[in-house]
Amino acid sequence: MLGPMPAHNAEYHRFSGSQVTQVRRLLIDWYAQSKRPLPWRNANPDENENAYRVWVSEIIDTVIPYFNKWTEAWPTVHALAAADPEAVRSVWSGLGYYSRASRLLEGAIIVVNKFKGVMPRDAETLQKEIPGIGRYTAGAIASIAFNQATPLVDGNVVRVLSRMRALGMDPKSKTAVDLHWSLAADIVDPDQPGDFNQSLMELGATVCTPTNPDCGACPVKEYCRAFEEHTVSTEKAKAALQAPRKMKRKIIDADADDDEPCALCLPVTDIEDCGALLVTRYPVVPKKKAAEEKEVLVPIIELRIPDQPSKFLVMQRPPKGLLANLWDFPHIPTTEELSPLTDFSSDNLLASIPNTSLSKSCLTIKIEKPFEPIKHLFSHIKLTMNIVWLTAQLPDGISELPVNDTATKNCAWWTEEEMEAGAVPVTLKKALKLVTDDRKGGSKTGAQQGTIKKKAKKGANVKDAAQPSISNFFSRK
Ligand code: SF4
Ligand SMILES: [Zn+2]
Repeated sequence: MLGPMPAHNAEYHRFSGSQVTQVRRLLIDWYAQSKRPLPWRNANPDENENAYRVWVSEIIDTVIPYFNKWTEAWPTVHALAAADPEAVRSVWSGLGYYSRASRLLEGAIIVVNKFKGVMPRDAETLQKEIPGIGRYTAGAIASIAFNQATPLVDGNVVRVLSRMRALGMDPKSKTAVDLHWSLAADIVDPDQPGDFNQSLMELGATVCTPTNPDCGACPVKEYCRAFEEHTVSTEKAKAALQAPRKMKRKIIDADADDDEPCALCLPVTDIEDCGALLVTRYPVVPKKKAAEEKEVLVPIIELRIPDQPSKFLVMQRPPKGLLANLWDFPHIPTTEELSPLTDFSSDNLLASIPNTSLSKSCLTIKIEKPFEPIKHLFSHIKLTMNIVWLTAQLPDGISELPVNDTATKNCAWWTEEEMEAGAVPVTLKKALKLVTDDRKGGSKTGAQQGTIKKKAKKGANVKDAAQPSISNFFSRK
């Protein structure tokens, strides 16, 4: 391990005017000598046909045999617009994502019908008007076929720019995407934009490869921050090795405090350690955050109404955060007082459900049974749901639910059928299945599985003497 990224400010990630001039010249010269002879690079005097060929090559993802087959079958945009969709499907067969082929066909028809068969020349119109042409493909067509000074960014360009400018931010973040496009726009050559853009992609594909870049053969190594960082840190490490012991730390830490820290890069502690200051540390791999553990009590309150299907209390989740806006059973964060391991009554539980006044309502509510916890892994959260099934009865002689039993519009009583059709999370379905299985006699409670506590804790809050306290059912294994 040779050390962290050098301290730097945001300017560290930009090209200076003279660097832009040098990088353009070096890359265009290198490309002229080193480019691979690919079929879509056979310059055709007809710009429109060139544009079509660049477009096809990008959609086909530069798979040469498919490109050849496709352009033999439909050499021009007019020919493709008149193609039989079945024939298109058969030529595409084996490439996957057929929707890309159908959008190419759809796009060709639009070019013929709306643009009289002439491809738009600028990236903005291409992207806006032609289905399947995204920002990158629009940049490729406009710069390569029509010599428009417009940038492009694909995976190869991301890698080359991340290394050349030592970009230490998550490459998928908006900051990084914007910065890559902005850097690509800064350096695109106004006179030979097509050659320049292709040189960047070619460098990424053949020299600045993901795991084994050949920096020694790279035409722009002199202007590459990643290469510079690697060289400098290697030299420092060598000097430190040879220096007397008291000098070692001084050499390694030299210039560490030279600049304001950059606000764009991730802190080194949030980046996967690649073991040394190798150029392959860029694009950086952000460390995956460990999933946060959350535990909740989930009361499933079933309202039994004579001669009608049961209804269940559901609540709409907040517009932000986990399962935003979905309708779900209430989730009550477990606390010291309210957890599967403490004793509480149905009243404690009901009073903790936000936006309702169930504990004071006219309903008679009792705990039916708790179930074994369900665990569910979301992308950043490990959720443990302690499901408690409660049943509620209306007072004698009343067969309608009082309107104000739920205090806000974010609460509702839904039948099973309504839950099936509603915007509900998978976790609600899992929880409800416990109840429906139990009715069929299939589910086991903690008590049935032998996990019942022998006695309620001394002084426990068991309000309803006829009701077993909740902790009698739950226990941790
Ligand atoms: S010097 Fe190395 S890391 Fe930098 S651009 Fe060239 S090949 Fe990529
Ligand atoms: Zn930075």
